[in-house]
Amino acid sequence: MYVVLIGPQGSGKGTQADRLAPKHSLMKIATGDLFRAEIGADTALGKRVKQYLDQGELVPDDVTLSIVEDRLKVIDAGDANGAVFDGFPRTQGQAEGLDHALEHRDSSINLVIEIVIAEKSLISRLAGRRVCSQCGRVYHMEFQPPAVDGRCDVCGGSLEQRADDTEEAIRRRLSLYRQMTAPLLDYYGSRGIVREVNGDQLVDHVEAAIDDAVAAAIAELE
Ligand code: AMP
Repeated sequence: MYVVLIGPQGSGKGTQADRLAPKHSLMKIATGDLFRAEIGADTALGKRVKQYLDQGELVPDDVTLSIVEDRLKVIDAGDANGAVFDGFPRTQGQAEGLDHALEHRDSSINLVIEIVIAEKSLISRLAGRRVCSQCGRVYHMEFQPPAVDGRCDVCGGSLEQRADDTEEAIRRRLSLYRQMTAPLLDYYGSRGIVREVNGDQLVDHVEAAIDDAVAAAIAELE
């Protein structure tokens, strides 16, 4: 099963992908996390993409698609039942590339969840966001604080603010979302696989709404 989470930065996609993936043995494929890991490890790919991330610009489609293809190969090896995509696809070219990659595997996107959220909520969400430097789990100082200040509940890693959670980069990312990513809802909408979930509610309630949408999609598969 392949699920895409679409929503602007700060809508809670990462948190929800973390919660959804283990319930159905899905691999979470978050391209932003994958790029940050490459930058952290100072690989050739990391060096190539760093500037895009720092400025809130999109990494070129060919680079993004190849990092996703690598993850799909891990799924092919039998390590998961599919994937939940977080922050991917972000452009029409990526959506088409993903369709091709899944067609080769006799699969397709089963469900696209749009997390709908008022734009005024986003800036405060992003400003309060903290990410575990070791495992990538996402917290919020106000809405989802860790048990121990500054430490990840899961692995004890230190929580940090992302370099691109600055006001300028956030504005650029939101504008790219509106221009490039939101139109994908029409691309998938014509297939009847988009479900809207209200992202302006407690994290647990968003999770429950996503669980319902996934259960309905699974029932359709059977
Ligand atoms: P995110 O963690 O999803 O907010 O992504 C952080 C940054 O990584 C973005 O601002 C882009 O620079 C880059 N990035 C992540 N996913 C993609 C993607 N699907 N296409 C292009 N760039 C991406």
